[in-house]
Amino acid sequence: MSELYHLTLSEAREKLLDREISASELTAACLGRIERSEPEIRACLTVMAEQAVQTAAELDRRGPDPERPLWGLPLGLKDLYCTKGVRTTAASRMLENYVPAYDAHVVSKLKEAGAVLMCKTNLDEFAMGSSTEFSAFGLTRNPWDQSKIPGGSSGGAAASVAAYQTPGGLGTDTGGSIRQPAALCGCVGLKPTYGRVSRYGILAFASSLDQAGPLARRVRDVAWLLKVMAGPDDRDNTCSTRPAEDYPSAAPGKLKGLRLGLPQELWEARLDPDVAEVVKKAFAALEAAGAVLIPMAMPNLRYSVAAYYILATAEASTNLARFDGLRYGRRSEKPRDLTELYTASRSEALGPEVQRRILLGTFALSAGYYDAYYQQAARVRRLIRDDYFQALDRCDFLLAPVSSLPAWDFGRFAHDPVTVYQLDLMTLPVNLAGLPALSLPAGLGPRSGLPVGLQLIGRPFDEMNLLGAGLAFEEAFPPLL
Ligand code: GLN
Repeated sequence: MSELYHLTLSEAREKLLDREISASELTAACLGRIERSEPEIRACLTVMAEQAVQTAAELDRRGPDPERPLWGLPLGLKDLYCTKGVRTTAASRMLENYVPAYDAHVVSKLKEAGAVLMCKTNLDEFAMGSSTEFSAFGLTRNPWDQSKIPGGSSGGAAASVAAYQTPGGLGTDTGGSIRQPAALCGCVGLKPTYGRVSRYGILAFASSLDQAGPLARRVRDVAWLLKVMAGPDDRDNTCSTRPAEDYPSAAPGKLKGLRLGLPQELWEARLDPDVAEVVKKAFAALEAAGAVLIPMAMPNLRYSVAAYYILATAEASTNLARFDGLRYGRRSEKPRDLTELYTASRSEALGPEVQRRILLGTFALSAGYYDAYYQQAARVRRLIRDDYFQALDRCDFLLAPVSSLPAWDFGRFAHDPVTVYQLDLMTLPVNLAGLPALSLPAGLGPRSGLPVGLQLIGRPFDEMNLLGAGLAFEEAFPPLL
């Protein structure tokens, strides 16, 4: 039997506006679902049950408002978004008891739009990782198979949506953290163009790469969320002054004649047989529908993992310097002197992956190595961007895998961080180039029964057409959730 929490965001939206259901009913259904699924899935670090019930009641009291695009819709937030009065941890012991005095820009936009904020979702500590196993507060399970990771770093957000806890949620994508968990959990995920969404109030990992974006079960649903998230913000200098567009009105594109560029460097990488199988079928379906698949050489993509892990760790080492136990973050109990206060606070409160990245980044930025590593990586980044722009001149969108593996077993790469870094090859280059990309479910792997995704990559600020193409895809490849 279909329950209220099964409604997609767009379906729920219509029913709310038509007064077929109330915000309180939907909120109660989702809270019930959270309560029943959390013991197994563990997608949430904090559930804002009381606050959600109150918000929904308040909304109902005043009645549906079509001017508020997310009126009455329950949403989850990756626990990297600052929420006024609600603990915000970045899944780190460092911020275990941090209660922000302000809302992230995006969070205040969601509130203005009438959303009901339900939960803060789990992630890899400070968004560093691809499996959500690096959370200091325990792992999140993939609703498709609880012995598997949900992907990461926005694994909690994806698992929560896939477990029908909420019809949509927000993640962040520095090197794939929205697209990859969306793919591994069968959701739709959008990484907007760099600068499309304000980063104000989102705990920073790598500021030149971080971008906030939505996850949901349908393309139209992420369009509704983007409509509210996108747009200028004086408090983030890297945020574009272009106004948001009316993304939900994107018209479905046509597959017939659609020119899709295939980055050879990615498609030639070794794909898991399940992924390869789904992709083969997808290509056949796309060609049967009249799309034109054009292999494209993008030679510099092969350097993207190396460049990303220098640039991202360099920026992370700088951004995380503020957590010194003095001004920000948890303080060690009884340090003997100032130096020990710093080292002990940071050693106790930051996990091994975060420490590894701070070390790597500090090294890459240190005198004598800056030219050899950081500056070189910055040059490579420009070449990667050029490759994309040249390729996008010759096609409508690029089509790429999201992950060479479907969801994997917990602990599979526990002793092999470099292999996990290499798995990010499919998603990182898009962040280096600052482009928008939409991760879409393409089917279930025949052996594992697990979701496999594909991503469409577009031109800067072309989210409207990207979503239109996504709608056409959705018709060809039925949603998995
Ligand atoms: N997996 C990548 C990393 O570990 C990307 C993370 C992200 O996008 N936040 O850095």
